[in-house]
Amino acid sequence: MSEKSKLIGGSFLFKDTSVESVFIPEEFTEEQLMILQTVQDFMIKEVQGLGIGRVAALDAEKDKDLVLSVFKKAGELGLCGVSIDEKYGGMGLDFNTSLLFTEGLAGGFSFATTIGCQTSIGSLPILWYRTEAQKIKYLPAIASGEKGCSYCLTEPGAGSDANSGKTRAVLNAEGTHYILNGQKMWITNGGFAEVFTVFAKIDEDEKLSAFIVEKGFGGIELGKEEKKMGIKASSTVQVFFNDCKIPKENLLGERGKGFNMALNILNSGRIKIAAGGVGGMKNGLAKILEYTTTRIQFNQPIAEFGAMKQKVGIIATNTFAIESGVYRIGAEVDKKHAELKESGSSYNDAKINAMREFAIECAILKVQGSEAMCNTGDEAIQMFGGMGYSMETGVEMAYRDARITKIYEGTNEINRMLSLGEFYKRAFVTKELNIKEGVVSVLSSIAQNYNPFNRGDLSQEMEFVNNLKALFLIITGSAGNKLKAKLVNEQEIVMNLADILAMAFITESAFLRVKKLNEKKGIDSTELAIKTKMAKLYLYDALDVARKSAHNAIDSYSSGIEKFILKRLVRRMLRTYSINPKDMRREVADYLMKMGGYKF
Ligand SMILES: Cc1cc2nc3c(=O)[nH]c(=O)nc-3n(C[C@H](O)[C@H](O)[C@H](O)COP(=O)(O)OP(=O)(O)OC[C@H]3O[C@@H](n4cnc5c(N)ncnc54)[C@H](O)[C@@H]3O)c2cc1C
Repeated sequence: MSEKSKLIGGSFLFKDTSVESVFIPEEFTEEQLMILQTVQDFMIKEVQGLGIGRVAALDAEKDKDLVLSVFKKAGELGLCGVSIDEKYGGMGLDFNTSLLFTEGLAGGFSFATTIGCQTSIGSLPILWYRTEAQKIKYLPAIASGEKGCSYCLTEPGAGSDANSGKTRAVLNAEGTHYILNGQKMWITNGGFAEVFTVFAKIDEDEKLSAFIVEKGFGGIELGKEEKKMGIKASSTVQVFFNDCKIPKENLLGERGKGFNMALNILNSGRIKIAAGGVGGMKNGLAKILEYTTTRIQFNQPIAEFGAMKQKVGIIATNTFAIESGVYRIGAEVDKKHAELKESGSSYNDAKINAMREFAIECAILKVQGSEAMCNTGDEAIQMFGGMGYSMETGVEMAYRDARITKIYEGTNEINRMLSLGEFYKRAFVTKELNIKEGVVSVLSSIAQNYNPFNRGDLSQEMEFVNNLKALFLIITGSAGNKLKAKLVNEQEIVMNLADILAMAFITESAFLRVKKLNEKKGIDSTELAIKTKMAKLYLYDALDVARKSAHNAIDSYSSGIEKFILKRLVRRMLRTYSINPKDMRREVADYLMKMGGYKF
């Protein structure tokens, strides 16, 4: 496999990404790490200190002012405007630093959703799709936290099928205003927002358009705060529009292009869910280690039991692997943005297209990040035993809060379908991915399985990574060939393929990171050894996931000689990876115990 360009989303499948080109979290600068520290400090002092999310919740009217006062403080500190350019009163962070910021938000529990919405889906539509005049009008108050903002796509009858909404906008007889009628549901920050990005159809259009709606326009009614399972410091309401009068110029972007906009904004939200998950898992590990090293049973800290170490090892491994993927793609988005600007794109187009480019990777990271985070919450309760089930420790809150991440910003089923659908689109419709390169890479991957020579450190692991990619391409190609357009209706197979795709991307990200660390000077050798073990452990589990998914997919559509050949290929390419997972997980857990958490 050879590298031609590193800035094409999904191209990781077809070629080797060079170690030099990949960004790894160890390369964050002091300045970037200070942003992380600032937000973490704020969350510990202002949110954890006041018990927001645990004892103070937005669905209790009495606590609303308390939560909103913290929101205002966050705004004063600049935390509401991290992605907004400095000229509009924000911090103007690059995308990867905004992901690091999102990781830090995790310390704010469900308050993270409030700030997350303000800095992402609430404000990015204006930042990316507005004219200069409109940006000047809206962004400074959003950046300072003076005005909350929200993103209104979902309706009672339009959830996953978001383009099927009934909310309508009709231009008035004078041609000056759109009159908006309809109902939105599950709107984060809706209870206090002053600015709403609303997706609605104009007249009898089939496709959505988007509007900026101010509360002050009138004709807006809010439902009560939803009583939710978790994220209780996050406002979630229904929003009703009754003849809401919107100035014509508040149409956001072009008529009929709102759905594309909605999806693209969600690309950014999706990778941010994974970044928040990384933060949540790190926080979870710290809490788990604090408890399990002090809880004595059978005359020893429970942290010393292999069953506990196995869980810690798995959580740490997932954290490491997802973190590798998140910041790899965050940096790619920034590079793509610079590339587009250099080639003459406008500010808005560069922002929009840089994000759109990595839709496949964002969907993968959203699914894997949210599932790893939910697993962490569940295992944390298990390791705390009865105390985990009690309201006293707060661990049950993490479990409840994490659960939403598998549902919003597109459910994980929708995101699995999206990752595969986007791959097909790029490979066969827009042809942004060069399918010929894919064929060459598959052939070279198959050949390398029959090469008896060891080709240096981590060569076996990189061979597995390439095999995961090649098998994805082989099975996807064969299923597509057999089922043609019917494949989209065979969702079980699509889910299987999406999981193989995800394993290929995340294992590659983990090993590229380890390989790059190997080439860096001054890296602590013990730390490097632990990181290498985590990458290997992730691969070990990923091969299991991919094996199962590959067999499931092949058994579901294939037969005869084709099935026989495909199954042999799976056995050969995803053969046993001979490591000792028990010993390795113990070593990882012991190291984390010594460090008091995931402190890399
Ligand atoms: C706390 C919270 C905050 C939210 N914040 C916002 C917000 O700020 N703005 C906003 O616009 N929305 C928001 N949402 C809405 C959220 O994005 C939707 O809930 C989500 O997209 C799923 O839609 P739904 O709830 O209607 O579920 P449905 O679409 O009814 O899905 C139910 C189940 O069916 C599955 N399913 C649906 N379609 C398919 C299909 N084609 N193939 C296979 N399976 C399918 C889903 O995967 C899911 O498992 C929020 C939701 C919650 C709960």
